[in-house]
Amino acid sequence: MSFADLGLSPAILEAVVAQGYTVPSPIQAAAIPAVLEGKDIMAAAQTGTGKTAGFTLPILEMLSKGPRVQNNQVRALVLTPTRELAAQVADNVDKYSKNTHLTSCVIFGGVKANPQMMRMRKGADVLVATPGRLLDLMNQGAVKFAQLEFLVLDEADRMLDMGFIHDIKKIIKALPKNRQNLLFSATFSNDIRALAKGLVNNPVEISVAPPNVTTKLVKQWIYPVDKKQKPAALAKLIEDGDWKQALVFSRTKHGANKLTKFLEGRGITAAAIHGNKSQGARTRALADFKAGEVRILVATDIAARGIDIEQLPQVVNFDLPNVPEDYVHRIGRTGRAGSEGKAVSLVCADETKELFAIERVIGELLEREMLPGFEPVSRLPESKLNARAPRVNKPKRNNSQSKPRSEHHDGQHAANSTKQHKQGANTSTRAPRRGQPAAKKDSSGSSDSPWSNSNGQRHKPNSSR
Ligand code: AMP
Repeated sequence: MSFADLGLSPAILEAVVAQGYTVPSPIQAAAIPAVLEGKDIMAAAQTGTGKTAGFTLPILEMLSKGPRVQNNQVRALVLTPTRELAAQVADNVDKYSKNTHLTSCVIFGGVKANPQMMRMRKGADVLVATPGRLLDLMNQGAVKFAQLEFLVLDEADRMLDMGFIHDIKKIIKALPKNRQNLLFSATFSNDIRALAKGLVNNPVEISVAPPNVTTKLVKQWIYPVDKKQKPAALAKLIEDGDWKQALVFSRTKHGANKLTKFLEGRGITAAAIHGNKSQGARTRALADFKAGEVRILVATDIAARGIDIEQLPQVVNFDLPNVPEDYVHRIGRTGRAGSEGKAVSLVCADETKELFAIERVIGELLEREMLPGFEPVSRLPESKLNARAPRVNKPKRNNSQSKPRSEHHDGQHAANSTKQHKQGANTSTRAPRRGQPAAKKDSSGSSDSPWSNSNGQRHKPNSSR
């Protein structure tokens, strides 16, 4: 099948060819004709599947045949959880619409609102936005929806995780009822299904395999280490392995900052990327990393999502993720496009529950290696598939020092992190399956963090508005 078979007009096909795409990805082959037929869509697909072109191309096709957009109006609204994803989707919209008269605009927090309001004066055929800032601009009358024909929720699971549900509901309330709805989510929890119920009408359900889940090109293993030893263990791995570049995942923003400082102190260039950083700092860190000027990029899951960094040789889980499916997303960052990648995890005894949950989800036990000089004092229990983690007695937390509950998120809003997740089913055009309980974990920090020698300050939850 080619793109021409999907019913796209020459102006859009030319832009697709200019991108070097020859064959539609499975989600594109399923979504493009369905959207062109006017259907709603509910798709289980994550970054890397080509989902952005899957919704953008048919929307542009439909919009190109309709009336011109009026001042402050929007004809297609794409909501995304993070600024990075919004910028990336907007960039795609620009590329695919370059041979048409259609216009687009991107709105997110962390930068001045005024230029965005000025830009919206002449309206936008496609508006890509994060929910918080969009609501602000709607309240000021800068964004209106009388002409709205399409609503896309991109990475809906992340938006719910980040606590955007109320904002999303408010936004949907302000939209005309007669519109096409496209919902994309990597996972289909009960919460997503509840959201979908009131949103999509008789949708075409599409489910595609995440791009790297089954790849054997990613070598994965763990180093059992004590929590306090993790920063030094990572520095040793980088130095001894002479790593050129690595993406390191931290569960918390605070942890990402501390680790970056630690690595810099060891003479290893590093930058952190997370929701408490200004947009300028995030963009700069990513650009420096892509240019090879920064060796180690330390990221939280949310900030890393949707970022297209090709060909990473090395991914490190400095902390294991709370949600086991995030492990799959993380390792999907390496071993891309046929090249071999490595994914190593530093795992301490406190993370036994997370480790076992990950092994259950991926259906295999992760190989263990000892890092000489870093053999743990607190032993990591042996894994067995289908084993439940033994209870780990954690020191009681002093309430006055407890972290804000949005700690491991990118903090565009406070959020409850203990949602249920389910990885997308791996056959195409099949209904996404019901969610299953994922490992629950209190996202608050504890006094036994590897940074416990610090002054114990907590960063403030961030608002991107
Ligand atoms: P996405 O899942 O939308 O983030 O897309 C992931 C990557 O795949 C992006 O770098 C796209 O430019 C690329 N891509 C999207 N569609 C195709 C296609 N049909 N053929 C090759 N690459 C594609």
